[in-house]
Amino acid sequence: MWGFNITKTRAIDFDKNNREPMMEILRLEPSIRVCIACGACTATCTSGNLTPFNIRQLNVFMQRGEYQELKKEMHKCMLCGKCTLVCPRGVNLRHLILKTREVLLNEEPLFAQN
Ligand code: SF4
Ligand code: SF4
Repeated sequence: MWGFNITKTRAIDFDKNNREPMMEILRLEPSIRVCIACGACTATCTSGNLTPFNIRQLNVFMQRGEYQELKKEMHKCMLCGKCTLVCPRGVNLRHLILKTREVLLNEEPLFAQN
């Protein structure tokens, strides 16, 4: 009647998301807790230079408990480790990705010591 519609809310309801996988990933690689979202990892990412892959966005998806998006993107990482080298907060992103793959995709651990 007025020429516009009420749009669906974009608010994220954390209570609807299953946060258990995220808590397990945080237990396995707690260094991500000190991330300040500076974007240095994304800027240097080898895969991100060749594809739309965005490692910082993956961290956001994980913290929100939005695993479907995470699962679609995770295999784009080449595990080169450059993101870990440049992180000013010492976040071990490469290890985080390995652990995330194990938790969300039930992958076997790549290294026995992990
Ligand atoms: S470089 Fe480190 S602190 Fe910066 S966004 Fe990436 S993980 Fe977070
Ligand atoms: S380890 Fe993965 S996320 Fe990190 S720089 Fe290499 S390709 Fe990018």
